[in-house]
Amino acid sequence: MSQAPIPVFDGHNDTLLRFVLNAGTEKEQSFFHESGKGHIDLPRSRKGGFSGGLFAMFTPSKFNAAGVSFNPDDPENFKPVEQSFALNFTNRMFAMACHLERESKGEVVIARSAREIRSAQAAGRLAMVMHIEGAEAIDADFDALEVLYAAGLRSIGPVWSRKNIFADGVPMAFPSSPDTGSGLTDVGRELVRNCNDMGVMIDLSHITEKGFWDVAKISTRPLVASHSNVHTLCPSARNLTDKQLDAVRESKGLVGVNFHAAFLRNDGEPIADTPLEQIVRHTAYLIDKLGEDGVALGSDFDGCLVPDELGDVAGLPKLFDKFRQAGFGETVIRKIASENWLGLLERTGI
Ligand SMILES: [Zn+2]
Repeated sequence: MSQAPIPVFDGHNDTLLRFVLNAGTEKEQSFFHESGKGHIDLPRSRKGGFSGGLFAMFTPSKFNAAGVSFNPDDPENFKPVEQSFALNFTNRMFAMACHLERESKGEVVIARSAREIRSAQAAGRLAMVMHIEGAEAIDADFDALEVLYAAGLRSIGPVWSRKNIFADGVPMAFPSSPDTGSGLTDVGRELVRNCNDMGVMIDLSHITEKGFWDVAKISTRPLVASHSNVHTLCPSARNLTDKQLDAVRESKGLVGVNFHAAFLRNDGEPIADTPLEQIVRHTAYLIDKLGEDGVALGSDFDGCLVPDELGDVAGLPKLFDKFRQAGFGETVIRKIASENWLGLLERTGI
């Protein structure tokens, strides 16, 4: 009998966006049947030990035709998005999560607290925690925040890699410092305070370095970058400098390691033929900087170019084998795989 895979709670995926964009097209698929498309469906999640994660709701600036991969050099992909449009599109992604929960007949749940994630894990259910990537859907009066919170929203990245009313985002530039623009606006500061009060996680992946320090100054919760890597090892504007990592550690925060090849490699190239040792290298560096409680996974499944060697969510046990080969103990691997995210969500009041 083969051993059950190590349970994983992951910090970031774009699966809801993929399912919404593909709905009604020839690429439509069921979440409940195994397919080779994208990175996540329920059968592959079970194979990989994926027991849940933060499920991002991201509103694209440009809706590319099916099959066209995201081009970081096209400025159309970074154009501002209207609040009403973003809220409407966010509703579609949230509704998709609700449909999946209902259709699953108990196999998938939207979890609203760390306690609910733990009980879902214990019962073998997949737990979705609702996250907004780029808060364009939230208005300056925070009415949408109230309603989305009531529906189950528990995490917000104030900004994606484009400017909005809350902050400025980092471009996908390489090589580049993350200090590429302005920080939080006044209404951005209000968003952080409201999220602190409500128990909504603030995600710092995609924010400029100035914005990072603005949040660090006012937030009463641990600092989190759900899907970012180490700038010293891969000088992408999306990765965190040693100084930022020190601040994350100081706050008892967390960084989720991103599997995107261009955020892993020191040449910044999006190459699928990237060995898993590249993920191990960033993880080991983060353990060194943040301690073994401050590192977790932030795969970016369904939103990035994952190394071929990993493939998709079913490949997660291969990564844990690489961790073992690198000398990581079983306790540390289990922390990185799931425990650290749950601890962080608890420290955030979720
Ligand atoms: Zn992202």
